[in-house]
Amino acid sequence: MSLAQRYTELTDQLAELGSGDVRLLAVSKKKSGAEIGELADLGQRAFGENYLQEAVSKIQALADRHLEWHFIGRLQSNKCADVARYFDWCQSVDRERLVNALSRGRSEQQSPLQILLQTNIDGEVGKGGATPEQLPELADAVARAPGLELRGLMAIPEPSPDLDQRAAAFRALADVYKQLRKQHAQIDTLSMGMSADYASAIAQGSTMIRVGTALFGARDTLNNSRDRDGV
Ligand SMILES: *Cc1c(COP(=O)(O)O)cnc(C)c1O
Repeated sequence: MSLAQRYTELTDQLAELGSGDVRLLAVSKKKSGAEIGELADLGQRAFGENYLQEAVSKIQALADRHLEWHFIGRLQSNKCADVARYFDWCQSVDRERLVNALSRGRSEQQSPLQILLQTNIDGEVGKGGATPEQLPELADAVARAPGLELRGLMAIPEPSPDLDQRAAAFRALADVYKQLRKQHAQIDTLSMGMSADYASAIAQGSTMIRVGTALFGARDTLNNSRDRDGV
């Protein structure tokens, strides 16, 4: 199937699921500028990238297309200046040091960087993400920071083959999101669900799915978990 066919099939399926309000983030890591351009021609605006250098060169090459770029990879302090400079959204904020660094890196000429807090919902070891207990303080820090706008939560639940377990993780995240909304009523984004499980995530209340493989086809990779988190 061609990229255009997969895109049409996915957007049709989203419409069928009654998910017209669910945004599709096309995860384009390791994919070429030409493939991104092809999706942009079909109407796709939002693209997710994990690897900073690779992303920046695509963002620069495609600047005249006015796309919306989301950083979804592992975030470290030394990447924050470039993420703040080149991206529209950052979905992987999980500690206060990063909040401050992103805020410093965003210039006053730019619109605020849109922030999602990455949440480690299943306690999987070695994975990025704040614990649910850490979220209220972290959310307050983002809300206070100049140049940043808090929009909601993102999570990457453990890719368990047990679909019930995944649904439970999505449901738990939706609960945490509801709680956070009591303190920050303006948040509107719950980013959960990838190629293998977006239907389940939508059923549990996702407002943004991040889809790579089901759109672009398989990526070349030897190590899947590294690929999933970004480095
Ligand atoms: C790679 C990646 C995705 C997309 O994964 P697919 O299984 O290819 O759809 C989504 N979210 C994050 C954070 C990723 O790193």
